[in-house]
Amino acid sequence: MKGFNTKAVHAGQEPEKLTGAVIPPIYQTSTYAQQAPAKTKGYDYTRANNPNFERLETALAALEEGKCAVVFSSGLGAALAVLNLLKAGDHVVAGHDLYGGTYRLFTQWGMKFGLSFDFVDGAQAQNFAKTLRPATKLIWVETPTNPLLAVTDIKAVCRAARLKKILTVVDNTFATPYFQKPLELGADISLHSTTKYIGGHSDVVGGAVICNDKKLAEGLRFGRMALGINPSPFDCWLTSRGLKTLGLRMEQHQKNARALVSFLKKHPKTKKVCYPGFGGMISAEFKLSVVQTKKLISSLKVFTLAESLGGVESLVCHPATMTHASVPPAERARRGLSDALVRFSCGIEAPEDLTADVGSALDSIGQP
Ligand SMILES: *Cc1c(COP(=O)(O)O)cnc(C)c1O
Repeated sequence: MKGFNTKAVHAGQEPEKLTGAVIPPIYQTSTYAQQAPAKTKGYDYTRANNPNFERLETALAALEEGKCAVVFSSGLGAALAVLNLLKAGDHVVAGHDLYGGTYRLFTQWGMKFGLSFDFVDGAQAQNFAKTLRPATKLIWVETPTNPLLAVTDIKAVCRAARLKKILTVVDNTFATPYFQKPLELGADISLHSTTKYIGGHSDVVGGAVICNDKKLAEGLRFGRMALGINPSPFDCWLTSRGLKTLGLRMEQHQKNARALVSFLKKHPKTKKVCYPGFGGMISAEFKLSVVQTKKLISSLKVFTLAESLGGVESLVCHPATMTHASVPPAERARRGLSDALVRFSCGIEAPEDLTADVGSALDSIGQP
């Protein structure tokens, strides 16, 4: 199997042996019968492992061109398992334009347990290398960044890290393996909130890491079991179901985003559009006050006002008060995350309905 869509449909999805069921069943069990004490068929308790975890892991590893994958209860569960590879005193360098929950995990949880963090402008790869210290054990790259959608040169960051044996993690949630394969660019770990594009239908929360090193995967799997950040069998089954259409969906997300970008760029009320050139996410600012901007977001009809992204339905959000509310105002200002910024997650609807929706909302809001 070589093609992305072939792998998406078939990897980890072989028919079930017992009955021939084409769609593998949900192993909705917490525990497994043992033939003798500690003699198992490879499974003992679902916090540690379950066939639905493994099927999803096989598919994710195939799509990211990696050897191993480990699935978690959420994207932040996956991030916690990565931090769990470190110990008190270790130092982490991360891009400053991060998912708000990741920033909160680092600063309000990691710091409490003796980790220290530096946040740099990830748009310039050399900023990571410049900030390394002897205690640096991990580099965290989120690209394209959230919500400003800047792109980091993964290869350059990983080259600098490899020389010093520093682990590199790329949060690949926004690009997905359809557009970007961090392991091929030299990263040690590709991380996902599978809640977003991988699941793709806004009906399940999950996370995953993909890597090439079996020992590293074992360490992450230990974290899942020891910290209790395992997903449920049903959630993995749903994610496996969603993942099959990832390639088809990403094409339409991108087509819709490109249509909205060209519409916005021509619109007289647009101040700034952030779009990395690929994918389904757009951020924009308008020649409107913050109050008017919030009114604009609330008056959209096809775009639903909600946190999250990557589902088949279009969503819009106000990062300053929603996804990034946990980032202090001064820190938001430092990053260039304005209170007037609007983030669009373009779904897979007809593109003309998305542009018409934004167009009529803009028409209904007066001049600032
Ligand atoms: C949503 C998100 C996360 C966190 O994932 P959850 O599944 O919500 O825990 C991490 N990184 C990025 C880029 C995200 O969008």
